[in-house]
Amino acid sequence: MKLEKIRVEVVNCAKTFPDGTRGLLPTNLTIEPGEVIALLGPSGCGKTTLLRLLAGLESADEGSRIVFGDQDVTRRPVEKRGVGMVFQNYALFPQMSVEANIGYGLTIRGVPAHERQKAVGELIDLVRLNGLEKKRPAELSGGQRQRVALARAVAVRPRILLLDEPLAALDAKLKESLRVELAELLRRLGTTAVHVTHDQQEALAIADRLAVMHAGTIVQIGDGESIYRKPTHPFVAQFLGRVNTLKRDADALANGVLRLGGNSVPCPEALRAHHSVMLRPEDVQLGPMQEGCALARVEQRVFLGDRVQFRVSTEGQEPLLVEMHGHSPYQVGNTVGISIDPDRLLPTVEISS
Ligand code: ATP
Repeated sequence: MKLEKIRVEVVNCAKTFPDGTRGLLPTNLTIEPGEVIALLGPSGCGKTTLLRLLAGLESADEGSRIVFGDQDVTRRPVEKRGVGMVFQNYALFPQMSVEANIGYGLTIRGVPAHERQKAVGELIDLVRLNGLEKKRPAELSGGQRQRVALARAVAVRPRILLLDEPLAALDAKLKESLRVELAELLRRLGTTAVHVTHDQQEALAIADRLAVMHAGTIVQIGDGESIYRKPTHPFVAQFLGRVNTLKRDADALANGVLRLGGNSVPCPEALRAHHSVMLRPEDVQLGPMQEGCALARVEQRVFLGDRVQFRVSTEGQEPLLVEMHGHSPYQVGNTVGISIDPDRLLPTVEISS
């Protein structure tokens, strides 16, 4: 089944609800043809509002513009936009078989039976549900239901696919395997897609680019690796993974260094003027105390299976969170040496005047 690939443009798009709540502040976003974008952010940041505006389930404020391909759809109702939607609970029809669920949109559009059967057959192949055509949703696993929902959403050849927290209802283990499956399926479909989630791992695994949202607007957009490594907003650094904040006093600023446990680490040129910098827990190395290391004491040790998480206290800074993969011998009360790679330091927005 061939699906259209269109560019989606969101221009100066905002939503003020009747009670005055600003669900979305003026936002711009361009989604390339066939691209999968994740709208990622905590509860209340406006991601569902943006998705509903794209779907046509909410009307945008004056001055907003939403363009699908070369058509301005800003004032078009949902049924005239050509969107396919997948919801958290899948919203499958419980009394209908897998094939009837998938073919539903075609049935209500009056597509002749032989054409419908052909399209449903192709979709069954595409989402690999062969042999399950006659089953009802209650007889399927979570992953199979998700595939039915996806096949149903694309059966009507939408121009854009909208996914609203499609994995939120599943347990952690299933979620992990299904996000890989979903990512692969979306690539096979090749359609432009917007995926709403508050789960960073899910967004990283599924999307080509992530739009991180905070307080009603997109604060940063980019591929997962660059957003994680080069956050341009402190919220992004904190939301995508964890960070330590390290302070720099007047003396450290004057000397272009960062003071840590009796040690001085040269501060990269770009961060010289910053009163504080950030560092991810996995970018702190823990080892025996030796020259060139900062002195620290292990205050807390949490074994997390594939890694060990430590809280260490060190002179001149708030306690640091440290993560080490694999085995680590250090225990609470041990004196250790910590070292950091200055290139891994992240900027905070605050800059000295
Ligand atoms: P969640 O993950 O909890 O769904 P979200 O990021 O999707 O959160 P939105 O549902 O987009 O957030 O809501 C954005 C803001 O708009 C919130 O402050 C919310 O309370 C508000 N809001 C959403 N719908 C309405 C409405 N119908 N009337 C008034 N305010 C609303």
